[in-house]
Amino acid sequence: PPLLEVTGLTKHYRRGRRTTTAIEGLDFTVGEGEIVGVVGESGSGKSTVGTIVAGLQTADAGSITLAGHPYPVGGRHRAGTTAPHLAPELRRSVQLVFQDPFASLNPRRTVFQSIAAPLEAHGWSRAAVRERVAEVARRTVVDEVLLERYPVALSGGQKQRIAIARALALGPRLVVADEPLAALDVTTQVEIIELILSLQQTLGTAFLFISHDLGVVASIAQRVIVLGPDGVAEIGRTEQVFTEPRSEYTGSL
Ligand code: ADP
Ligand code: ADP
Repeated sequence: PPLLEVTGLTKHYRRGRRTTTAIEGLDFTVGEGEIVGVVGESGSGKSTVGTIVAGLQTADAGSITLAGHPYPVGGRHRAGTTAPHLAPELRRSVQLVFQDPFASLNPRRTVFQSIAAPLEAHGWSRAAVRERVAEVARRTVVDEVLLERYPVALSGGQKQRIAIARALALGPRLVVADEPLAALDVTTQVEIIELILSLQQTLGTAFLFISHDLGVVASIAQRVIVLGPDGVAEIGRTEQVFTEPRSEYTGSL
């Protein structure tokens, strides 16, 4: 079975008397070690899908399983920055990387401390933490000298690498990346794309890669979910969804 299986995913937001349907009846899968893109206009529900899969809020209806573990559905939909909705085995298996790496990096913590935090929260010993931080820093090409620095002293690209390193610390099988390149210049975007592709190949990590940028998604995803204004427009292999030559797609939706 696929790593992530989503069927009938539905989410409404209620504000007073107004109800917005963000996602209705969405079905998709992410295979083990697969990169699946999510594209669509602003407001099409991309972040809603990402935060639900990352466990930051619950769906109203539908079913989601990750490596066979079911997600809770329904109940209160309180969006946050941790994953209180998920059972411990799910929390370790899925991690979120945001557009703004500051969202996952505490300015008062060194890079080492930021990457180490999830490990410490899981009760790892100091020696195991040191070893694991060095390992993920190596995988994400974070230079050792950066480990003792604070986020303020880092470039945008370095911060995003470190946010990715932190997300990888507990060895997740799926990383949800919500517009991870949006705050970066084009050269740095290419470096982060190459990093994600290398992590997919060496660690077998799967990614749900959310972006408004078709060019970026075409260059990274094996399959793409295109969210339309009234539900799903299309899901398919990248070359089928983007029927024109890849180089044509450099703009936004
Ligand atoms: P995208 O990431 O594609 O821009 P979102 O998932 O953020 O889309 O939003 C989908 C729809 O849900 C939009 O109409 C948006 O205004 C609405 N929405 C998102 N979050 C909330 C919220 N917390 N409260 C009310 N409406 C929301
Ligand atoms: P749980 O979250 O279920 O308590 P973990 O998988 O986080 O379990 O790890 C439990 C213990 O095993 C930790 O104390 C940690 O030191 C050790 N451990 C697990 N994986 C590794 C690893 N890759 N490298 C070093 N130590 C590890």
